[in-house]
Amino acid sequence: TTFEDFKLNKQLLNAIEEAGYEKPTPIQQQAIPLIMAGQDILGIAQTGTGKTAAYLLPLLMKVKYAQGMNPRAVIIAPTRELAMQIEESIALLAKYTDLRYTAIYGGLGPKTQIEIINQGLDIVVATPKRLMELYLKGELILKELKTLILDEADKMMDMGFMPQIRQILEVIPRKRQNLLFSATMPDKVVELSEEFLEYPTRVEV
Ligand code: AMP
Repeated sequence: TTFEDFKLNKQLLNAIEEAGYEKPTPIQQQAIPLIMAGQDILGIAQTGTGKTAAYLLPLLMKVKYAQGMNPRAVIIAPTRELAMQIEESIALLAKYTDLRYTAIYGGLGPKTQIEIINQGLDIVVATPKRLMELYLKGELILKELKTLILDEADKMMDMGFMPQIRQILEVIPRKRQNLLFSATMPDKVVELSEEFLEYPTRVEV
């Protein structure tokens, strides 16, 4: 399999080439066609397998153009470090698109984050608490959300974020695509995947 086989657009193929990715990793080979077909995915993959690009490339195809004010995709990460890393991966892969994205997380005041949100966004990367905080303040409008991604779900459960995730699931549109990635599958992640995913396809590397 090559990246050309996935029917990604030219902007993404150019960015992939510049990133130096020669061919899709196993998780990318499995997950990209399924995600592009609109399925919910339960992805069991460690960091280092290329899992981030496995969900970002189809997401960047789906959220193709900058459009409107409110995000159409949210990626939730357990830590600020991971949120920042995901934002960097978006910067790399979305380089030739006009998509607007940012990472929002705690540990610093929300003022700058709110200013960026108010300029209009297509994709948000967020830690659970700050996401809920900005939603409750009315700063982040989630009614146009079409894709929700949970990355490192096992770590998210270990850190006790189940209540925040449940709260978020309650306020976002029901009709959406859901992707869950986790390095391990403890009971809590199984439970979360049952609440969160609809007829998921499991991909594992
Ligand atoms: P991840 O598992 O998402 O943390 O990715 C691990 C590293 O692999 C990151 O530095 C990516 O930029 C890189 N990477 C992702 N996909 C590929 C690929 N197809 N070929 C080479 N490197 C890749």
